[in-house]
Amino acid sequence: MRYLIANLKMNLISYEENISYLTTLLDVAKRNRRVGVKTSLVICPSFPFLSLFQKKLPKRLFLGAQDVAFSERGAYTGYVPARSLADNGASFVLIGHSESRRYGGDTNERISEKIRLSVRNGLRPVLCVGESAAERAAGQTALVIRRQISEALHDISSEEWTRGIIAYEPCWAIGTDHIPRSDDILEVSIAIRRTLVEILDRTLAQSVPILYGGSVNVERISEVCLAPGLSGVLVGRESLLPEELLAMVSALDA
Ligand code: PEP
Repeated sequence: MRYLIANLKMNLISYEENISYLTTLLDVAKRNRRVGVKTSLVICPSFPFLSLFQKKLPKRLFLGAQDVAFSERGAYTGYVPARSLADNGASFVLIGHSESRRYGGDTNERISEKIRLSVRNGLRPVLCVGESAAERAAGQTALVIRRQISEALHDISSEEWTRGIIAYEPCWAIGTDHIPRSDDILEVSIAIRRTLVEILDRTLAQSVPILYGGSVNVERISEVCLAPGLSGVLVGRESLLPEELLAMVSALDA
């Protein structure tokens, strides 16, 4: 199975904007009956609109959340727990996105807790990892990725991680129109797989889907997916354009 995870971020802010997006998306999906057969399309709206998307999305499309609280319940003003996400239709959740690390104070330890709580509540965690431009320039990409994964999964058992997904998102490629060469993506995906093999049950480690994210669009998707061993993409800006989104699903299907 391949995956296209569409991260709408905080771009659709009103009810009207979300309804308008949904109407176009459903219209395009209706014309593409095969969407969802080979490639799982996962839409991640902002928290308040999860239940609206749950009501409107056809069963063959999936719903994801953009983040999750690091605690089960309690005095955590402003946070949204895994149970609430699941009850509002989410089946996937992005964890450790570079923007959550940067603005939300996500540490690898906190990310680990988020993974545990997500899994406990039936959500599929999508662990986002990636190096900064400075780390890349210093030749530390593999080291950084390895640390992010091993610390995030440090306390997570193979049983807990069974349905987990890794998204490699170099910070310098997000929102910039720069993408790594497919050879570089391949090299990082090998480093990710090696790290997983060291931490998890070997068979499971070999089967964990690895996605690429960062400035993917219709023109670049085939270039990105030239890297063997990738199971799909995580898309930001372009997911705001349903026609483009569905064209990318067809490219992944091919
Ligand atoms: C992202 O933020 O996860 C992302 C991939 O963004 P963009 O596609 O806009 O680079």
